[in-house]
Order: sequence, then structure tokens, then C-alpha cells
Amino acid sequence: MKLIFLGAPGAGKGTQAEVVSEKLHIPAISTGNIIREALKNGTELGLRAKEYMDAGKLVPDEVVIDIIRERLAQPDCANGFILDGFPRTVPQAEALDRMGVEIDKVVDIEVPDEKIAKRMAGRRVCPDCGASYHIEYKPSKDGKTCSLCGAELVQRKDDHPDVVADRLRVYHEQTEPLKDYYGKTGKLKIVIGQEEVADTTRMTLEAIEA
Ligand code: AMP
Repeated sequence: MKLIFLGAPGAGKGTQAEVVSEKLHIPAISTGNIIREALKNGTELGLRAKEYMDAGKLVPDEVVIDIIRERLAQPDCANGFILDGFPRTVPQAEALDRMGVEIDKVVDIEVPDEKIAKRMAGRRVCPDCGASYHIEYKPSKDGKTCSLCGAELVQRKDDHPDVVADRLRVYHEQTEPLKDYYGKTGKLKIVIGQEEVADTTRMTLEAIEA
């Protein structure tokens, strides 16, 4: 099963990708997590991406396209994968097509902008393993450290309210046109993001199986 999860930043793509990845035994590939890891390790990719990421802007297409090309060539992708946060522009989607990747379903998780702003303010992430939590909707076991690896949770720089407004604008301008792009292929499924993570998961699995 080769899946794409679309949606605004903070719509819950990453959370759903993690859950569905476990259920279907396929890797969830988050370009955001790959870039954050590169940043943490001080690699050239990290250095190139930093200024874009911190400002809530998209990293140049050719950079993320190379990341995805390399990642999809890994053996764990042979039986399928979930792309979380890629493609984010029409040229990225075209590049994926040119790589010969046959996508089965594109799940678009829809959440209104007002709710997104609230969600992002409460999001906390693990700087070590990339797991994502929310202080209200999906707290870690003790509310402070990662339930998976024990590292102290942090707020992403780009989840600060001033940057969130920019990220939403970028989403509407550059990523939302992908709904049309995939709508034309008949593979697009719309899921309305729910308050409860488990409800959105149920609807997401129904959309994938439909
Ligand atoms: P995310 O964790 O998916 O919200 O991504 C965080 C940031 O990483 C984005 O705001 C971009 O700066 C960068 N990024 C992640 N995925 C992409 C992509 N497909 N294209 C361009 N930039 C990306």
C-alpha cells in the first residue's frame, strides 16, 4: 500500500501516519522529521534547510525530492509506505510521478485554520525520536518526556503562533492545489479531522480501504 497523507500543517497527518504505519506494517516517511534530524546532526542538508524551516517556508523542491528519492530506495519501502508531508507542491508531485511511484490512495485530512492554530500551540515533539504529542489531545505519559524514548519534549520553533500563520498561508498557496492534482486521478479521499485521534484513525482506515 503506497499512501500519501495530505493536509495543512497541524491537521494531524503525522499522528495518523504513525498509527496507520503500525497497523499496516509499512514505514511512515516524514520529510519534516528527516530535515529536523539533519538539522540536529548539523549536516549540509540541515544547514541548507534551516532558514526556510525556521521561517515557516518550504525547503526548495529539488532538496526534498532528492531526500524522497533516496528514502524510497531503502528496502523497508518495498511493500509500501506512507508519505507524510510530501509532496507539498505540484512540482514535487510531478517528480514523484516521474520516479515511477504508483500511489494507491491520497488521504486529505481537513481541519479548519482556527482549530489548527490552537492545535499547534499545544503541540510538543521529541527532539530525539521525532514522536509528536499534544498537551491536551495526546499528552505523553508524564506530560513532560517522550513516552517512547524518555527525552524531554520541546515545542518546535515553527509552531510558535507568528510562524504558524505563515505556514498556513504557504499551505493554502502551494499545497492545497494538490487536492485538484490528485482529485483528477480518482485516488483522493477526504477525511474530516476529528477531536479524538482514534476517530480520525477509524475514518482514515475506512478511506484507505474503500
Ligand atoms: P512538517 O514537519 O511536515 O510540518 O515540516 C516542517 C518544515 O519542513 C516545513 O515547514 C518545511 O520548511 C520543511 N518541509 C517538510 N516537508 C517539505 C516538503 N515536502 N517540501 C518543502 N519543505 C518541506
